[in-house]
Parts: sequence; structure tokens; C-alpha cells
Amino acid sequence: MFFFFVGGLQQEVRQVLKSGVSKCTYCGNSVDLVNSDKVLNLFFVPVWRWPAKDPLFHCSYCKNFSSYNYSLPPTSESPAAVAEALRCRFCDREVEADFRFCPFCGSDL
Ligand SMILES: [Zn+2]
Ligand SMILES: [Zn+2]
Repeated sequence: MFFFFVGGLQQEVRQVLKSGVSKCTYCGNSVDLVNSDKVLNLFFVPVWRWPAKDPLFHCSYCKNFSSYNYSLPPTSESPAAVAEALRCRFCDREVEADFRFCPFCGSDL
């Protein structure tokens, strides 16, 4: 199998079904419900185009597509976990709060 393309897969709006139906999960602007086409680009030339099965939300402001059934992207922010973690002041890596010595560099914490 050959997975490496010079170019890539893009999604383009074909038809706006309904505008302002929801809020963009990325920028908070209103999004449109659209029918879209998937476009395969090779060397920046569209070589193949086929309609996407399901309607999608499209934000015309940040150009992001999001799926109609609200499968939100995984949130990367977990402020509690970051705040709890202790950092070794020598090697600056995260260590468990109850460690006496840094497991990475062996320094006394
Ligand atoms: Zn947006
Ligand atoms: Zn360390």
C-alpha cells in the first residue's frame, strides 16, 4: 500500500443546506450545515472529487468542518492535571508529587 501523497485530502463546501445552525467548536462563530465534497489534491491539482456521505457543519470564518453528530474533538486542556504535576527543577521533567528523587536525572527533589 502506498499512503504517501504529495498533496492531500481536502473538503469543500458544495451546497449550504442551512446557515447559522450551530456554533463553531473552534472559534465560536455560527456555522452552516452544508453538503460537501471530498477533494483529493495531487501536486495541488484536484484529481479526484466525491461527495461526502453526511452533511457537515462548516464554519466560514475559520474554515473548519465539524461533524453533524457533535463528535467533538478531544479536549487537550486538563488544567487540574497540569497544576498537580511536580517538575524536577534540574531537568524540568514532570515527576510524581510524592517522589523523593527525580526518576530521570536522580536529583534530590
Ligand atoms: Zn470557526
Ligand atoms: Zn530531574
